[in-house]
Amino acid sequence: MTDPHTKEEIILEGIAASPGVAHGRAVVYLQKQLDVPCYDIAADKITSELERFDKAILETRAEITEVRDQIAKSLGEGEARIFDAHLLVLEDNALLDEVTAELQSTQKNIEFCYNNVAQRYISFFRSMEDEYLRERVSDIGDVSRRLLHNLIGMQKVNLGQLAAESVIVSEDISPSDAADLDRNKLLGFVTDAGGKTSHSVIMARSLRIPAVVGTHDATKRIVSGDHILVDGHDGIIVINPTEDRLYKYGKLASERQKRDDTFSSFIAEPAVTLDGASISLMANVEGVQEMEQVKQMHAEGVGLFRTEGIFLRHHGYPPESVQYDAYRAVVEAAGEDPVIIRTLDVGGDKTIGDDNVKDDNSFMGFRAIRFCLGNEAIFATQLRAILRASAHGNAKIMYPMISGMNELRMANRMLESVKQELRDAGEAFDEGIEVGAMVEVPSAAVIIDLLAAETDFLSIGTNDLIQYLIAVDRLNDQVAHLYDPAHPAVLRTLKAIIDGANAANTPISICGEIAGDPIFAGLLLGMGATSLSLTSSLLPEVKYFIRHITKSDAEALVAEVMQLGESTDIVQKLEAFRQKALGDLA
Ligand code: PEP
Ligand code: MG
Repeated sequence: MTDPHTKEEIILEGIAASPGVAHGRAVVYLQKQLDVPCYDIAADKITSELERFDKAILETRAEITEVRDQIAKSLGEGEARIFDAHLLVLEDNALLDEVTAELQSTQKNIEFCYNNVAQRYISFFRSMEDEYLRERVSDIGDVSRRLLHNLIGMQKVNLGQLAAESVIVSEDISPSDAADLDRNKLLGFVTDAGGKTSHSVIMARSLRIPAVVGTHDATKRIVSGDHILVDGHDGIIVINPTEDRLYKYGKLASERQKRDDTFSSFIAEPAVTLDGASISLMANVEGVQEMEQVKQMHAEGVGLFRTEGIFLRHHGYPPESVQYDAYRAVVEAAGEDPVIIRTLDVGGDKTIGDDNVKDDNSFMGFRAIRFCLGNEAIFATQLRAILRASAHGNAKIMYPMISGMNELRMANRMLESVKQELRDAGEAFDEGIEVGAMVEVPSAAVIIDLLAAETDFLSIGTNDLIQYLIAVDRLNDQVAHLYDPAHPAVLRTLKAIIDGANAANTPISICGEIAGDPIFAGLLLGMGATSLSLTSSLLPEVKYFIRHITKSDAEALVAEVMQLGESTDIVQKLEAFRQKALGDLA
């Protein structure tokens, strides 16, 4: 541990990923593989080895029960059920008997025996035809990791239960780690890897947790207990900040607060430009826990409900009843406003411990609609749950990663057959439910006229569209500088998509992260977007900005930047436009 008053101040740089400033003690979280030791046990030590095993099982049981109760309190009984399954795995008699037999026959230490047996179970379940049984692989994996940690006595950081308010410093934070994070104690996070649109960063932004990513080596330069300041506005981390620095940041924070208060004072007003053009501002959410904020921000419904969070927290495929509860809760919380529920977009950086969706190039691999069309039972379960939830409000369905008409039509055929099943069973759903597609693969952009003709609405996923268009992995910190939303190719593609959708009178929204950035919001309005869907915490600034520009100026801006060949010149124009609109607040 270092003393902030005596140690030298060190500055690290990374990518500003989620705005805000965090200041506190670092907890360095390394996701190292568990090293399971192997040694011989004398025959007279077998009993004490078994006692050690019993003690670790009790500790693990207490841990799982505590997490279960916390999840039940914060997210409901449905989401907590997975931990009941974990308790059953932990205390499975057949498995425990096999561990005892292994100990007696091999006379090796208990963690080694337990690990061998658990790995045998994992291989066995992985080879099963039955999908439900295959899903048990991740339960056994989770439980055995916890138990082995307790047996080995390893110091571990549990992101779901931080001991004190902390700044997490990690090689990376996967979306499933992020789903477990203790939001009350997490001040901010820093990662070695990652880009601005990784899903854990998107989660951080929606929770207003400051984050700096892509630092390359923060986990090597910071040790647990270090006093650090994370500046998520400028992408800077200060180790051992001086009193002078803390004072300056304190002053900046109060200025930012004043600015935010001004933006917020317009939040109940409509999103209309000075010359009377309106654009609908909707929210991106991951579950009902965000709906209170969505309402406070006067969002006009949910433009993107990422359903993966429910699957990630479940560490697998939740049954229809759990999904139905989750979708219905959001739809009901939205009242009459629309909720666009996106079908499962698993794959990419969102893996849920299923070997089916891990491959080496997963962003371009078996992801999203491809996965769903290849796993009809999983897809049908989700569609049934969404359709049943649609009886309780204004739900819409959106397919991610559509790359061609065949996928859209296959998904629609599946939807039709699920609708028929529900009709036959007398289950209520919205017969007129609207169906749309994300435009996030360049091939979809090229055939926008065809897509627009067969959809009720479209939404541009710029996070993916940019990575596929420029061939830049959105997670890779080494190419993060090439991930450029202002690239002329991106602007031309956006314009072509919006023009194509408007020509067909198909509503066109943008739900990628650029929708929450005022420098792009004006541009998208000028191009003719009908709505923007963004993290609700960013809504006040975007609304203020829209209310301080004219549509005709935004259109002139589009005409001007479409002539430019370099993104630095484009950004300069967009930035000048923003500054003019925001005045002193810029
Ligand atoms: C996108 O790609 O822009 C998008 C909104 O989807 P996601 O970030 O979940 O991939
Ligand atoms: Mg996407």
